Amino acid sequence: MTCLLCDRIEITKKGQYPYLIHEFKNSFLYLGEHQFFKGYSILVSKNHYREMTDLPLGISEEFYSEMMKASRAINEAFLPKKMNMCSLGNRVDHIHWHYFPRYDTDPRFFDPPWLMMDQFDLSKVTPREAQATIEQIRHFLI
Ligand SMILES: [Zn+2]
Repeated sequence: MTCLLCDRIEITKKGQYPYLIHEFKNSFLYLGEHQFFKGYSILVSKNHYREMTDLPLGISEEFYSEMMKASRAINEAFLPKKMNMCSLGNRVDHIHWHYFPRYDTDPRFFDPPWLMMDQFDLSKVTPREAQATIEQIRHFLI
């Protein structure tokens, strides 16, 4: 059975995935292909693990550190009112974290971001349109 995110990792390693923000030791940080929430990004484990608890000891600590670095960079780049981070994996059981920056201007601020997912496709960005946002996040990744 193929995995959507394993496929993306392979494409990324060939330098062919245009939404890459940053490569960490254990993960890749991507800008979301939609920007319904400005700065929406996804952190994906380089290896196929199903649960966070499947990460080997040592790797799990490094992965957590990468999660925090990604979150800080997105926060500093866009100054959201709140960062919604979530990892579900019911559809794609390869560890990945969603970062949804939430803003004062969000009319549905108190709702989970998934309740608006029917509108995500309306906010798709091309790789060219994504570039400035990617650069803004990279600027704060250290
Ligand atoms: Zn996978």
